[in-house]
Amino acid sequence: MAGVIRRLDETVVNRIAAGEVIQRPANAIKEMIENCLDAKSTSIQVVVKEGGLKLIQVQDNGCGIRKEDLDIVCERFTTSKLQKFEDLASISTYGFRGEALASISHVAHVTVTTKTADAKCAFRAAYSDGKIKAPPKPCAGNQGTQITVEDLFYNVNTRRKALKNPNEEYAKILEVVGRYAIHNSGVSFSVKKQGETVSDVRTLSNASTVDNIRSIFGNAVSRELIEVSCEDASLAFKMKGYITNANYSVKKCVFLLFINHRLVESAALRKAIETVYAAYLPKSTHPFLYLSLEIAPQNVDVNVHPTKHEVHFLHEDCILERVQQHVESKLLGSNSSRMYFTQTLLPGADCSAEVVKPATNSSVGAKGTSDKVYAHELVRTDSREQKLDAFLQPLNNPLSTAPSAAAAEASAGPPEGTARPQDAEMEDVSDLVEKADDVQEDMGVPGGPRESGPLSPETEPPCKRPREDTDVDMEKDPTRKDMTAACTPKRRIINLTSVLSLQEEISNQAHAHLQEMLRDHSFVGCVSPQWALAQYQTKLYLLNTTKLSQELFYQILIYDFANFGVLRLSEPAPLYELSMLALEDPASGWTEEDGPKEGLAEYIVEFLKKKTEMLKDYFSLEIDEEGNLTGLPLLIDNYVPPLEGLPMFILRLATEVNWDEEKECFESLSKELALFYSIRKQYVIDEANQTNSQNEESDSGGSTTWKWTVEHVLYKAFRTHLLPPKHFTEDGNILQLANLPDLYKVFERC
Ligand code: ADP
Ligand code: MG
Repeated sequence: MAGVIRRLDETVVNRIAAGEVIQRPANAIKEMIENCLDAKSTSIQVVVKEGGLKLIQVQDNGCGIRKEDLDIVCERFTTSKLQKFEDLASISTYGFRGEALASISHVAHVTVTTKTADAKCAFRAAYSDGKIKAPPKPCAGNQGTQITVEDLFYNVNTRRKALKNPNEEYAKILEVVGRYAIHNSGVSFSVKKQGETVSDVRTLSNASTVDNIRSIFGNAVSRELIEVSCEDASLAFKMKGYITNANYSVKKCVFLLFINHRLVESAALRKAIETVYAAYLPKSTHPFLYLSLEIAPQNVDVNVHPTKHEVHFLHEDCILERVQQHVESKLLGSNSSRMYFTQTLLPGADCSAEVVKPATNSSVGAKGTSDKVYAHELVRTDSREQKLDAFLQPLNNPLSTAPSAAAAEASAGPPEGTARPQDAEMEDVSDLVEKADDVQEDMGVPGGPRESGPLSPETEPPCKRPREDTDVDMEKDPTRKDMTAACTPKRRIINLTSVLSLQEEISNQAHAHLQEMLRDHSFVGCVSPQWALAQYQTKLYLLNTTKLSQELFYQILIYDFANFGVLRLSEPAPLYELSMLALEDPASGWTEEDGPKEGLAEYIVEFLKKKTEMLKDYFSLEIDEEGNLTGLPLLIDNYVPPLEGLPMFILRLATEVNWDEEKECFESLSKELALFYSIRKQYVIDEANQTNSQNEESDSGGSTTWKWTVEHVLYKAFRTHLLPPKHFTEDGNILQLANLPDLYKVFERC
């Protein structure tokens, strides 16, 4: 029997329609944020309770809503943004349907408190099923709008049941707000749970897009970003954004796509870009992408669905192709050694031994120009072909045959002839130092660390920043129990003003040209443990590896603050013995007036024991209850600090660090750690000596290990992790030795 067709009750129709637009708290928040941005807000604060199911509160400082409009803001199809159908074609605001607030008010209790610039006071009104419940009441309030949404889906049983997990909803909210925050640098955003003091997303209004990517997705991503930007007038589109280079990859693609400033999805675009990356990234790994496309509004079909999520646009195929080309050119340009690699693989490419490219062409890409390249501009880009080593006799390297006496003097022990109290214990310490060096040697050799090394990273794969896990977790694992962790399980968001301002100081000091040079250099060879040669374009540079590594470690300490892995010491190193060793060293400057060394050492131990919590929490410097050092921060993969510097580091930790002021404390502590971690001559001699004595028959010499570390660990990190400060151009730590065109001039005269 056929059922009777009845007209549905209007509120039921509205409720069904509302369910289409608002499917979960994150959708509601997205709509509300778009309204705040439409209202020209520069600060948007979101507070939620139970993943937004109990309460969503969005506060902005925008233009506010006029009192006379408050009656109808929640009615369907009321909007201040569109009047005629033709306007649809040129719409530049987010909203235009007047549907969002209406929908929300059909499935939740909505309260709006708002004040415009010229109103004398704020007004508050409550809404239900699209209708205002009572005339707006005057109240106190700042300019802007606060909208609270309570008991979302209180009247839609099925929806409420489908959204049982507040953690999952909270993760979605963080994802949406984080993305809008990245897209809207200049506007500050925050999200927190009601009653919490710490925000889980927080960006500042003066932060750049990259700053925002860093604070939301972490350093591992933000350091590997390439800026992209292209436009095509004939296709009426522009694209801007940041994408990761070929050094970065994760298990799941993170794709932030904004089209005409609206967060959307485009499966077609995602696929097009992933195809390009497939040639550069390890199998089944993916990039991070943030792209903002502006397409002539009349070409975008925003009307597909009220959730306005998956978008299609006119000339889609042509635009995708342009984007692909641009991404490809950027990926090629981002790393000259990869450029070489790809060129030789391209069909028809010249595969002869010496591949050259124009010096000024690094960002243009493989499809490059046929411009003639003059001899004096030719640049050898494959650093692997012939390095300095090739011109040297390996066995004549003085470092690999360093006499053991010199090595002994340079090692951790006190100088010959000085009395050594508690000899036995001290030997334990130097023993440890030796073992640690042993591992450094192991870790330094391609092929990875030996299994039973006494020092090993705490986490299973010896990888410093757990990129794969951390940075994409917002995408990956919404089912996690811990709500904040659902966003960043291991990475902690650091909002300490002191640390943020130290970060800012580093980035303000950065020298763009030096950074470019470091990023794209070809490594030529080590001159000594302290000095190395690198080529960039037509120029040859001499670089102070010690100073550069020191700066690198300092920057890592500040940027990855409180997010380090641990290098666990196989045997705890007693702080007392370390302090005694340091005080025995004339370099400590100890004199009789300072009092007995034993007393000082005891004081140092007690003093540092009081700081253990902070040292462990922020710096992964672990000290046990007995006053033994048990762990050091893991700053970069495959690098163990030169441990013979440990005694002096401990002494300086107690004496040179400013423990009174927060910022100064973090700064000086990081400086001391960086000094200790930087690569130094003694370290190398010590290592060479050890390799020789342990492995007499080996003819490779000890020099190969540290050289490998310098080239493949430190200089590799300089490419992407170092923001070289301006003063390196002046203080001789980076020197330009020669420039090919100048050399040609010299030869021409001959
Ligand atoms: P739309 O954004 O499509 O116009 P909405 O239902 O999202 O529709 O909002 C309805 C109207 O309410 C908007 O046109 C705007 O005038 C007003 N409004 C909503 N939120 C805000 C806000 N945060 N600040 C100022 N006005 C707002
Ligand atoms: Mg809107």
